[in-house]
Amino acid sequence: LFVSFEGGEGAGKSTQIRRLADMLRRKGLDVITTREPGGSAGAEALRHVLLSGAAEPFGVRMEALLFAAARNDHVETVIRPALAKGFVVLCDRFMDSSRVYQGVTGNLEPEFIDALERIAVNGVVPHLTLILDLAAATGLARARGRLTAEANGGAAPDRFEREEVDTHEKRRQAFLDIAAADPKRCRVIDADRPVGEIADDIAGAIQPFLAD
Ligand code: C5P
Repeated sequence: LFVSFEGGEGAGKSTQIRRLADMLRRKGLDVITTREPGGSAGAEALRHVLLSGAAEPFGVRMEALLFAAARNDHVETVIRPALAKGFVVLCDRFMDSSRVYQGVTGNLEPEFIDALERIAVNGVVPHLTLILDLAAATGLARARGRLTAEANGGAAPDRFEREEVDTHEKRRQAFLDIAAADPKRCRVIDADRPVGEIADDIAGAIQPFLAD
């Protein structure tokens, strides 16, 4: 079972992934948690390039190609083998982030994004995508709080987190559009609630996939 988590900054993806992984392990399932960009040796090597802004001068098209390269490495070296061994794979961001960040707010043509997606995922598509939905301003405020908390450790805000609220609101809408277009794969989860309530919703969404 392959589950991806999507949503804007500060939506609580990592917290929910941790909780779901614990819950599934208590049920005796084998679980791996992973993330994008990154999740495999090759992709982690690109993560720094992508998040530091080092590729920025070369444009969003090159960036999209690098995300695709990272995703393909992640799929072929980590996700596909784990699924073949019967693991539940929980992934923090996947192909929908590219549709939204590089496609919608990066203004790349849908045909280009689709072509890269097909090559990158090579048939490995999430069975379930949980979209953690939150007003952009709320998410950004949470993300900024986290960054301030991390500031003592020297972590700088990554370039994607320096952007404006309206860009984030556009992304939020883009994730909702993806969910509306593919209701079989996607569930929208209201992320502006206490952590436990969100976790209960997620547990409910995953239940039908555990039955088979
Ligand atoms: O999951 P997290 O919010 O930590 O994501 C790291 C960053 O990578 C995000 O700020 C996101 O904007 C960016 N990203 C992106 N395109 C992707 C995947 C992630 O711009 N395809």
